[in-house]
Amino acid sequence: AVSGVVLLGLLTSCGGGGGAETAVSTAKERPLVGVILPDRKSSARWEEQDRPRLNQALGFAGIEAMIDNADGDEAKFASIADSMIQRGVKVLMTTPLSPEGGAAVERKAKQAGIPVINYDRITIGGQADYYVSFDNINVGELQAEGLIGCLGDRPGADIIEIEGAPTDNNATQFADGHRRKLAAKYDSGAYDLVATQAIEQWDPVRGKAVFEQLLNGNGGRVDGVVAANDGLAASVIEVLRAKGLAGRVPVTGQDATLEGLRAILRGEQCMTVYKPIRDEAEAAAWLAVSLARGDISGADDLATGNTRDPVSRRDVKSVLLGADLITRNNLRTLVDDGIVRPADLCAGD
Ligand code: BGC
Repeated sequence: AVSGVVLLGLLTSCGGGGGAETAVSTAKERPLVGVILPDRKSSARWEEQDRPRLNQALGFAGIEAMIDNADGDEAKFASIADSMIQRGVKVLMTTPLSPEGGAAVERKAKQAGIPVINYDRITIGGQADYYVSFDNINVGELQAEGLIGCLGDRPGADIIEIEGAPTDNNATQFADGHRRKLAAKYDSGAYDLVATQAIEQWDPVRGKAVFEQLLNGNGGRVDGVVAANDGLAASVIEVLRAKGLAGRVPVTGQDATLEGLRAILRGEQCMTVYKPIRDEAEAAAWLAVSLARGDISGADDLATGNTRDPVSRRDVKSVLLGADLITRNNLRTLVDDGIVRPADLCAGD
């Protein structure tokens, strides 16, 4: 499905030529597209993976990209959007910090006649025209599967769940995925759910404090931790390390960040989820090209999925990609596929 999207994009954009020369037009005719990334601290992915991939994909698609980062600040998110709208972007791509902030920006863009693509996070109750992301319930299921794989059969194992931001629909979907796989274990007593706690803004500093409190509250006992991404996993591991438990308690993650992959190699993190950000960026870029040209049917051909927005009661046309479960056993595939360099995996510790 992934290469189908990309191929289709190439065909519609390059008139079947498919080469860089046909895709890239001269600077003068390049449509301007604005991208607002959410922050730098909730995950290394935004600056480490998304920015360079988006730059590359948008550039190749013949777009002049303006990529900015809201730094976790709603006011900054709004003011970046204002200035992009004023600069005359043809398409606005946003990864919202909250439904309210996202919807406010989408309203303004709509008033200015600018189509909006929700990149990675959908604005529930918003007005975006398209949504590009992953099957996020499945991402949550992969995390739960990873934990079960690492923990095995440990009747009554104490589990703590550190979930993502309550304002991020993805976090809700990850938690949904956890529930789908773990509810039966909790119900049968195979595992014991000590606590589940959402961390505002996915903030790793908050995540650390919350986990430490929950752990102490349980008399220092924990046998497995669902951490919703690699950043939160790192916070959990720090606390475990201080108690001499790191490496003995499986911790999940997500994003295949260098930090997460290194923790897996050290044996302190059980798994991560690899999401092919390059495909996500490419799908968003080809959608943007179609929309910048006013080619709605071209965009609709790319976005063959649907995501239900229960608040605005509509189906948002979507591109939803698949993700992979990464453990110690198959981490090599990321190196073999050229996704991470061995030197980067060894550095930093
Ligand atoms: C993304 C995750 C990321 C998290 C924190 C989610 O919306 O899907 O990949 O780890 O936000 O930035």
